[in-house]
This record gives sequence, C-alpha cells and structure tokens, in this order.
Amino acid sequence: MENGKDFINDEEIWEKLKVNSNPEPSRIREIIAKSLELERLEPDETAALLHVKDEELWQEIFEAAGKIKEKVYGRRIVTFAPLYVSNYCVNDCDYCGYRISNDKVKRKRLTMDELREEVKALVKQGHKRLIMVYGEHPLSDAKFIAETLKVTYETKVGHGEIRRVNVNAAPMSVEDLELLRDIGIGTYQVFQETYHHETYKKLHRGLKANYQWRLYALHRAQEAGVDDVAIGALFGLYDWRFEVMGLLYHAIDLEKRFDGVGPHTISFPRLEPAVGTPFYEKQRKYLVSDEDFIKLVAVIRLSVPYTGMILTAREPAEIREKVLPLGVTQLDFGTNIGVGSYSKGAFDPEKQQFLINDNRSLDEGIRWLASTGRITSFCTAGYRCGRTGNYFMDIAKTGKVHHLCMPNAILTFKEYLLDYASPETRKVGEELIKKELEAIDHPKLREIVEEYLKRIENGERDLYV
Ligand code: SAM
Ligand code: SF4
Repeated sequence: MENGKDFINDEEIWEKLKVNSNPEPSRIREIIAKSLELERLEPDETAALLHVKDEELWQEIFEAAGKIKEKVYGRRIVTFAPLYVSNYCVNDCDYCGYRISNDKVKRKRLTMDELREEVKALVKQGHKRLIMVYGEHPLSDAKFIAETLKVTYETKVGHGEIRRVNVNAAPMSVEDLELLRDIGIGTYQVFQETYHHETYKKLHRGLKANYQWRLYALHRAQEAGVDDVAIGALFGLYDWRFEVMGLLYHAIDLEKRFDGVGPHTISFPRLEPAVGTPFYEKQRKYLVSDEDFIKLVAVIRLSVPYTGMILTAREPAEIREKVLPLGVTQLDFGTNIGVGSYSKGAFDPEKQQFLINDNRSLDEGIRWLASTGRITSFCTAGYRCGRTGNYFMDIAKTGKVHHLCMPNAILTFKEYLLDYASPETRKVGEELIKKELEAIDHPKLREIVEEYLKRIENGERDLYV
C-alpha cells in the first residue's frame, strides 16, 4: 500500500463497468468458454458479464456456473454451522444488530463451560465444522479467541468432535494471527462489507472505520502463515455490480502477492433486518432483488472458478434451492445465531446479529441435498494432510479436487448416516453412496473405499484416503 492508496480504485471500477456495459453476445460466449477452462477472469470480463441483458445468454451463464462447480468440486457440498461466541462490540456499523449503540440487543460472551455446551449440542447434531464468530471487543481479543478454539477442539461427545474451526472476527495484527495459527485455526474470514470507500466511511464508526486495516487483514493472515483466507461483501450496502468487481480485485491482489493463492472461499451475504436496527427499512436503495442475487452468484462463479462459495441460512430455503446449482460449495444447516442458543435449543432474536431465514436442521438439509444427488462432505482431511493454501489451489485450478475428495466425502457421509441421521435420511443417503461408489472410475481406489466403509460399519471412525 502506497500513500494511503490501495488496490481498490473506485473510479477504475466504475470505468470498467461503464466501458463494458454493452457487450456483444460473441464476447460473452468467449468469456464463458474461458471460465469453463477454469481460468480466472479479468476485471473487464467480469464487468461485461455483469451487463448481460439477454435472457438466453443468462441461461448459458447459469449452465456454465453449474458445470464449473461440478468440474472443480464434483457433487460434494460442505456443511457447517456458525457458532456465535460473543456479541460485545466496540464498533458502530449502521446495519448490524451488535453495534455498540444498539440497546435492544442482549449482550453475552460465552464462558468456557457454556462454550463446551454449545459445541456438544452441535456435535450431537452431527456437525464437524464450525465458523466461530466474535464481535470486536477487548473481551474477545486474540487470546480469548485462541482459548475458545482450543476448548472447541478438545470437546468430545462419544466419538463425535469438531474437526475444523474457521473464524470470522475483526482484522488482527500478524502476531495475533500467529497465535491463532498455532492453535490450528481453519479458514480466517473477514468481509470487507463494501468495497466502496465513501460508503464504507459513511457506515462504519469505531475501530472498523479503518478501511485499509480491514482490506489488508487477509494479507496479514497470509504473512502470519494462515494460508486459508476468506473474503466477502455484504450485498445491500452499495451497488451490487461494484461489489462483485471489488471481490474480484481482492482475489486478484491476494493471488498476485501470495504466489497464486487467492481466497479459499467467497461469501456474498445479503443484508437482513436486525433487532433494534432501522437501517434495513430506512436504506433500501441498494437492496439486491432475488433476480439480481442469482445473477451475481453466477458471475462470481465464472470469475473465480476454483474458489469455494458460501451461501448462508440468511437466505430462505427457496432461494438456497435456486442458487445452489449456480456454483455454491458450502451451506450451513441447523443454524442458530443467538449467543448460547444451541444448547438451549431455542431461538432468541434479542441475542442475534440479524434474522435467519432457512431453519432446516442438518438432517433435513442433508436429506434434501442427497435427494438432488449431492453428497454432504464432512471431510477435513485436506487440512490435516496439508492440502491447504498453495497445494489446494494447485489441485483446485486443475479441476482435480473431486478426484481427491469424493472418496473422503463418501467416508465422512457414511459416518454421519450411521451416527446421526434419521431413518429417512439414512435411506436416501445409502442409495447415494451406492451411486457414488459406482462413479469412482479407479478400481483400486473403489476397493479401498469399500473396505473403509466396512470398517466404519464395524465401528471405526475418522478414516480417510
Ligand atoms: N465483528 C466482526 C466483523 O465485523 O468482522 C465479526 C463479524 S460479524 C459478527 C459477521 C458478518 O455479518 C459481518 O462481516 C457482516 O458482513 C455480516 N452482517 C452484519 N450485519 C448484518 C445484517 N444485518 N444482515 C446480514 N449480514 C450482516
Ligand atoms: Fe461489530 Fe462486526 Fe457487527 Fe460491526 S459487523 S457492529 S464490527 S459485530
């Protein structure tokens, strides 16, 4: 970063959007073909996709988005649950229920005992992956976050345990991130919210007002050796086309500076109403319609073919069902974002940051996915075998993730079916496993997976190839 400038140039983004605002269909088809070769797009190309007007061309884009996802990730979907640990916050982000000026929200930071209860409740549902979420506050500093990660990894219920903890927390220093690296943080996620400098300034007060400290949070993470980082924009704060461009520039800068390693995932939450927070009703200008949302997801898929994409339960079930085939790789289920609410088994809007719209349990979610031919992967082997960062990107970019990951997805899915699934889900799931076994085209590998499946039936757990 030089002279206070950064890699997001608002004028340049608007210029790219303007000069590409009337693309020829032939150019769009060339861009689609490039994405299908799993090549990352350039800003001019993404800007052109964002301006397609013809419905038929959109259908081609949607189809390509699905194909790219299949090529890179296969029919696997990763599931996780968010775990809100503390909602104390020193910042005043206009749109967020946790902002300091909101006196309608009940503040709560979990004690370590309460955290154990939350983790146990999630493990009992069958979860293996969490994203732990924290407001920015001295009560939830890096030391506290590190302790909560340690406690989470140590908590067991029978042979169930959380195997991967991702973190969504405020930007940190390199030293703080090193602390989290040493404890075994999974992906570190920081959303820029809006890439538009002026809008950012208008909406944020407190420590978060520093746009560049936030923009370079994931660069610092990489420097600290946390090599799985995740970006996102909160859609509804500014023009959605601009934000898609911002995400692309962010991904490109990370790739450029860290040896080709871009973000591990991209999130694209849409703004939701929150308790005591009139922003949603007052500022409707940039709210994204369902129709535009579907388009922006497909354009992100084409722009960064090898990056994971997370679609959260902020979206209602109908929208998640529509958007899933456009390239989404991760979904949360059984979600409850009230601090301390999993162990109570109840929803508590006064402790929530915003409102959730897909309330399906993990079991219902998995059954739905299986009924569409998608296998839920609880696999975290990649991280334990060092298949992260550069290594992961290399295999993702050559479209080989699913050769490597499908066997492990099958094995972890089997564990879920045996340990946690309802009889209905087990039935649909076992049928899917049969199909997936047939689809493994390497006979030796199929044999190994079949043998491991038997061992799992006989009580062994955590087997991976
Ligand atoms: N305090 C940390 C931060 O701001 O980075 C932790 C993250 S915050 C608890 C998680 C994310 O929720 C934010 O980055 C923001 O994108 C999203 N969020 C905040 N308010 C929201 C709302 N009203 N609707 C939907 N998402 C919201
Ligand atoms: Fe605090 Fe994060 Fe909410 Fe802003 S978005 S008020 S920083 S919890």
